[in-house]
Amino acid sequence: MFPALADGGPRPALRFGERSLTYGRLSAAATPLAASLAPARRVAVWATPTLETAVGVVAALLAGAPAVPLNPRLGERELTHIVADSAPSLILAAPGDELPAALAHVPRTDIDVSTHVGASTDGPAPAPPPFAEPDPEHPALIVYTSGTTGPPKGAVLPRRALTSTLDALADAWQWRADDVLVHALPLFHVHGLILGVLGPLRRGGSVRHLGRFSTEGVARELNAGATMLFGVPTMYHRVAEALASGPGDAALAEALSGARLLVSGSAALAARDHERIAAVTGRTVIERYGMSETLMNTSVRADGQARAGTVGVPLRGVELRLVDEAGAPVGAGPDAVGEIQVRGPNLFTEYLNRPDATAEAFTGDGWFRTGDMAVREPDGYVRIVGRKATDLIKSGGYKIGAGEIENALMEHAGVRDAAVTGEPDDDLGERIVAWVVPAGPERAPALEELADHVAAQLAPHKRPRAVRYLSELPRNDLGKIMKRALGA
Ligand code: ATP
Ligand code: MG
Repeated sequence: MFPALADGGPRPALRFGERSLTYGRLSAAATPLAASLAPARRVAVWATPTLETAVGVVAALLAGAPAVPLNPRLGERELTHIVADSAPSLILAAPGDELPAALAHVPRTDIDVSTHVGASTDGPAPAPPPFAEPDPEHPALIVYTSGTTGPPKGAVLPRRALTSTLDALADAWQWRADDVLVHALPLFHVHGLILGVLGPLRRGGSVRHLGRFSTEGVARELNAGATMLFGVPTMYHRVAEALASGPGDAALAEALSGARLLVSGSAALAARDHERIAAVTGRTVIERYGMSETLMNTSVRADGQARAGTVGVPLRGVELRLVDEAGAPVGAGPDAVGEIQVRGPNLFTEYLNRPDATAEAFTGDGWFRTGDMAVREPDGYVRIVGRKATDLIKSGGYKIGAGEIENALMEHAGVRDAAVTGEPDDDLGERIVAWVVPAGPERAPALEELADHVAAQLAPHKRPRAVRYLSELPRNDLGKIMKRALGA
């Protein structure tokens, strides 16, 4: 799975803050740990943003032991659910980590990388990992969904899903061994762990993890030779704000202008942020679209034309179609909204312990129902309009996606952040509600003003009919808006 790891050597692999491992040292740390794991027995990994987490997951992959990354910030109740559901045979954690009571009954193994950290020489060449490459269909990782629309479900990901998605991204992004990734995402979801750590390791490239996201850290690393940035929309929002504030952040602008690839995903990037970053840096942020269950489905290609609001084209090997409620393909055109269904080697095999949910998620002929709604642009680019469960508003006989109204609202100078939901309405079936975080405390734009602003850009039936003001939108740790908390 990781050819560069088997080769070892002094090339940089991972750096978290001041602590780093070369490929040789990563192999030396992960190989004995892998040898201590029983193949096919699940291991939980206490997934702090550290070298230890990366080493633990790599060791589990080498051993063929399905890894369950755990979000250390989960509450006791959520954690108890995930631990009971996934029943790990042991938990890997860094030596100083204090584990919560929910994990007290699970045997613990510490991941000790201290003798390897920072060593620039490799000493005697470590023996190549003595492990047979596990069956591509065997579970490699169990990743819990973000819980945006319901309790998290464990997506069982076979090894071939990981390798096929990472290789398809390498094709789309021209991802190379000399790419250096700036990373600041958590390590318990697809984005931060599979794309952000396993992706560079599969290519033989390297990762620099900031620990915590900051625009200063991004600027510093990109100006010091890093070539790629992976982020969620809230990070690019902070980048856009930093570029626009006062005289603008010249170091950040220079860093972004020189980057090879800026990638956003996990949620929709606001059109306003996409445009503001492009205006200052001349660089367009590439959006890719994926899920825990499917890994990556689409992306704008490195040599393609990124456009605000679009997530590009299906990746190599991925079949994608848009269907209506009866399961029939939708036609072309800007109003032909359909559910995205996908098929391909990137897909999970099942939800852990949830045969009901698994059966519901697939059509009879093997297409996975993503629950995301989209339209196809004339050139084939996919434009996501929102989730079927929370973002599709049926109002006055129209099906309206929340996303484009949110984008339009955010173009208003008085709006800092916005979300749109539907609410039952006697007349319209559902009416459009705008949840608005005003740009300043002194003046919150009134409903009429916001509705006129939206109607100036979009069709009249997309006017919000009610507005509610909030000081902040409810978001989870990847910056996804928790619309259930808004009553959607
Ligand atoms: P749950 O399934 O538990 O409700 P979740 O769907 O948020 O949570 P994930 O699997 O982490 O859990 O996220 C996948 C979802 O994220 C997709 O279905 C899609 O709605 C959204 N998403 C990912 N990338 C993008 C993107 N580039 N643009 C818009 N939405 C995106
Ligand atoms: Mg989901």
